[in-house]
Amino acid sequence: MSSATKRTVLITGSTSGIGMAIARMYAQKGYNIIFNGLEPNGVEIAAGIAAEFGIDHLFFPANMADPAQISDMAAHSLERFGVVDILINNAGIQFVSPVEDFPDAKWDAIIDINLNAAFHMTKALWPAMKAQKFGRIINIASAHGLIASPFKSAYVSSKFGIVGFTKTMALEGGEFGITANAVCPGYVFTPIVENQIPDQMKAHNMTREEVIEKVFLKEHAVKEFITVEAIAESVLFLTESAAASVTTGIALSVDAGWTAH
Ligand code: NAD
Repeated sequence: MSSATKRTVLITGSTSGIGMAIARMYAQKGYNIIFNGLEPNGVEIAAGIAAEFGIDHLFFPANMADPAQISDMAAHSLERFGVVDILINNAGIQFVSPVEDFPDAKWDAIIDINLNAAFHMTKALWPAMKAQKFGRIINIASAHGLIASPFKSAYVSSKFGIVGFTKTMALEGGEFGITANAVCPGYVFTPIVENQIPDQMKAHNMTREEVIEKVFLKEHAVKEFITVEAIAESVLFLTESAAASVTTGIALSVDAGWTAH
C-alpha cells in the first residue's frame, strides 16, 4: 500500500485475543496501527507485529475505564496520523456471578470498559472522520448483545448497550461517509473465556470439561470454538469489502449458530 493510500486503524484491547488478530490482519495490509491493551508485554507485542509487517505504529496502555486516558490516546493518535480512518472498539472484560452477589465495582468496570469507552473513543475520533467524509467504526459486541445468559448481568447489559450505540452512530454517520457496525461473536477461546471457567464451574456446579461442553459449546449449533481469524475476517468484510460502504447499523453474528435458537 503506498503512503498516499495508507490508512490508520485504532484497535482497543489489541495486545491479546481477538484484537490482536484484527491488528495482525490490518498490519498485513500495510495500515498504520494504534495498539492499546493492558498486557504487561504490550509494548513488545505491538512492536513485534509492526516490525514483522514493516508498518508505522503507536502503543498506548490507556485504561479504557478512564475517559481522561482515552481522550489523551485519541489526541496523540490524531496528532501523529491526522485522522483515524477505522476505529475498532474491542477491549472488554467479563465477570460471572448470580446477581445478588455481583460486586458493584465489577458492574461499574464492565459498563465502563465494554460500553462507555466506545462512546468516549467514538466521540473523540468522530470530528476528523466527519471532516474527511470517511470513517469505519466496528464495535466488538457479542452474541450476548442479542441474547442473554444467566450470571452475566453486567456483560449482557453492556453488549446490548453497544449494539444500540452502534445503530445510533450508523444513523448519525450516514451523511458523512461514516459507517458503524457491530460484530457479535459466539465463544472464541481467548483469555476472557479461559478466565471465566473457574467462576462458571462454581456458578453451575460443574467440572471444567462440563463447562466447556454444557455451557460454552452447548450454545453453538456448530460444536466448535470460533477462531480469532474468523472474527478478524468479519471485520474486514465490514471495512474493506465492496459491501462495506452500504452496510451500516448491523449486528453481524459470527456465532456458530448460537442466536439461531
Ligand atoms: P482478551 O481477554 O483476550 O482480550 C481483551 C483485551 O482487552 C486485552 O488486550 C485487554 O488488555 C484489553 N482490556 C481489558 N480491560 C482493559 C482496560 N481497562 N483498558 C484497556 N484495555 C483493556 O479477550 P477477547 O476474547 O479477545 O475479547 C475481545 C472482545 O471480544 C471483548 O469485547 C469481548 O467481550 C468480545 N467477545 C469475546 C468473545 C469470546 O468468546 N472470546 C465472545 C464475544 C465477544
